Amino acid sequence: MKFIDLRSDTVTLPTEKMRKAMAHAELGDDVYGEDPTVNRLQAMAAERLGMEAGLFVPSGTMGNLAAVLAHCGRGDEVIMGDCGHTFVYEAGGISALGGVHPHTIPNQPDGTLKIEDIRHAVRSDNEHFPKSKLLILENTQNKCGGVSLSREYMLEAANAAHQAGLNVHLDGARIFNATVDQGLPAEKLTDMVDSVTFCLSKGLCAPVGSVLCGSKEFIKEAHRIRKQLGGGMRQAGVLAAAGIVALEEMTDRLAEDHAHAKALADGLKELEGIHLDKGSPNTNMVYIVLDPSLGMDAKTLATKLRSEGILVGMAGPRHFRLVCHYWIRDENVTEIVNAFKRALSIA
Ligand SMILES: *Cc1c(COP(=O)(O)O)cnc(C)c1O
Repeated sequence: MKFIDLRSDTVTLPTEKMRKAMAHAELGDDVYGEDPTVNRLQAMAAERLGMEAGLFVPSGTMGNLAAVLAHCGRGDEVIMGDCGHTFVYEAGGISALGGVHPHTIPNQPDGTLKIEDIRHAVRSDNEHFPKSKLLILENTQNKCGGVSLSREYMLEAANAAHQAGLNVHLDGARIFNATVDQGLPAEKLTDMVDSVTFCLSKGLCAPVGSVLCGSKEFIKEAHRIRKQLGGGMRQAGVLAAAGIVALEEMTDRLAEDHAHAKALADGLKELEGIHLDKGSPNTNMVYIVLDPSLGMDAKTLATKLRSEGILVGMAGPRHFRLVCHYWIRDENVTEIVNAFKRALSIA
């Protein structure tokens, strides 16, 4: 059975053009800095984000980890949201591998961190305290429903951190979803931060990889750390070639995914017993809640939907996350809504 897979935008497969580019990529040893395709991707990414330099890494997780390790030493502290990907979903890497102390403050429902919370979280100079070194922001904010943060907010938050002597790292796994949503060129959401990672492997459809960007000096240090982490990849141009196509062709079209998410949300909210989560949809994500009156939990409905050829992500006992991406086409939206009707026996 061919599934319509709404679990995540990480399930996207490379496009035909990416596969061709991968097959014909010019290659070299990237650990020596000699892979021309990797070098081209890194330069393109840095330019798009208004940064001096870029570093191709195998995953967003490694990009964030290398960034934190380049900004912080052992015993230093990072301030971040309690719904932040780095805090929740990266296996505690910054503590396990870097001895870096996470200091969480609450993410607001709109994905932001309160500026006053950021200010209060910064430690004073006292030998009892770890040293506050870094603020991590996330845009779009995944666990807050894929909401995008505005340039005005990013400037305010980065300013508060910089005034307190901290650097700012942006987990921009889906930064192009944010820029499309905000109607801004990418650098307008990154020019206030010191470093940024973004994923090529999600909505942009490349099979593997993320790019970490920052100053030349910062990337030089991150390059050493990537090697330490086992992320030196030799003829990685076969992967970077798909990333180049992703940056050239796949960023602006994310607007289609956002339109599909909106259409899907509009269709589903009409169904008896299905509610949109507060504020949903955002960018390419729809969060829905099942009414208790249905007498059906998310797991049961997910199983029924699977037999209808629809794969959904569970976000709680009665919650689903549905993510739109390149491989969800216009006609799929109605098919999904109809499958929900059948699964709920209201067709
Ligand atoms: C996906 C994601 C990452 C990195 O994930 P990898 O699977 O390691 O590439 C980082 N931050 C956010 C917000 C993400 O959604």
